[in-house]
Amino acid sequence: MLKNHKKLTKIKTILLAFTLLLTTTVTTAKTEAKAEDNMPKFAIALHGGAGTILKGNMTPELEAEYRAKLLEALTAGHDVLAEGGSSVDAVEAAIVIMEDSPLFNAGKGAVFTSEGKNELDASIMDGSDLNAGAISGVRIVKNPIKLARAVMENSNHVMLQSDGAESFAASQESIEIVDPEYFYTERRYNQLLRVREMDEGTVISDHDGDHKFGTVGIAALDQHGNLAAGTSTGGMTNKSWGRVGDTPIIGAGTYANNASCAVSATGAGEYFIRATVARNICALMEYKGLSLQEAADEVVMKQLVDMGGEGGIISVDKDGNVALVFNTKGMYRGSWVSGEEPHIGIYEDD
Ligand code: ASP
Repeated sequence: MLKNHKKLTKIKTILLAFTLLLTTTVTTAKTEAKAEDNMPKFAIALHGGAGTILKGNMTPELEAEYRAKLLEALTAGHDVLAEGGSSVDAVEAAIVIMEDSPLFNAGKGAVFTSEGKNELDASIMDGSDLNAGAISGVRIVKNPIKLARAVMENSNHVMLQSDGAESFAASQESIEIVDPEYFYTERRYNQLLRVREMDEGTVISDHDGDHKFGTVGIAALDQHGNLAAGTSTGGMTNKSWGRVGDTPIIGAGTYANNASCAVSATGAGEYFIRATVARNICALMEYKGLSLQEAADEVVMKQLVDMGGEGGIISVDKDGNVALVFNTKGMYRGSWVSGEEPHIGIYEDD
């Protein structure tokens, strides 16, 4: 009885803290929104994974934690843009916050491979010059999105993998190296143990008994008209043989082009690679003149569904329109367009 009472009090405290945070943010947002009316348009969209995310499977406590973290990341990216910063900086600032949180399958909260390790993938793309950087299979880099950015800005390459990527990381001042143990979380390790009990070779997306994808991603348009997108993940629980998903594949999990849009994806990576999801959406806008929403619906709700590919995308176009599209029951998501208020969603009807 006493235990239940304590639990209830804790939930109430967290909900109260979240309500206060939301009220403060919305009030600040309203004031900022007025000031932003006079600035060139900017926008940011974010995801923290998609899947069967049902209210019935979620405790109020955990839901409040997710909403607060999504809002914190969205606000960090928004603030960079509001101050006139670049979309690439906004992408990095927001993703770092989600990578540092154990809630998402990226950075600190990454899932385990079949060998009980954490191997991280990330990519970033600058829509102003189509420059891009990506890394896969790194085990000692605290913030994979920063390493992807370093590949983009400080190397002649687009994609580096495992040991080579780590040697490059060691040569970069901006990159924090950590012990592989840093990525250990009990929740993720237990997921691996549960998956190991299933059929041999089963590979599961960010599995929590409710089948969801926990990758994180950002798309942003800055005040200078430049688009950027970035994505970061631990991949799939129990992955083996150096499996790489869509996240570090430019054109599949991430794409940005100032001529059309910026996209970051989350879902069953093999399908997203085969459907070249992110580039496909931008190409439909460029070549066929579709709106962002039409292009995203065509790829996520038709092409991927026909193939059996579950997941979703978040995107921003060159005019500051936002599309958050998923063919699953839910997607951790958010968006903030200048002059408007922030939006955070989790469930289908949020
Ligand atoms: N797309 C990621 C992958 O296949 C998984 C995810 O979105 O959670 O590696």
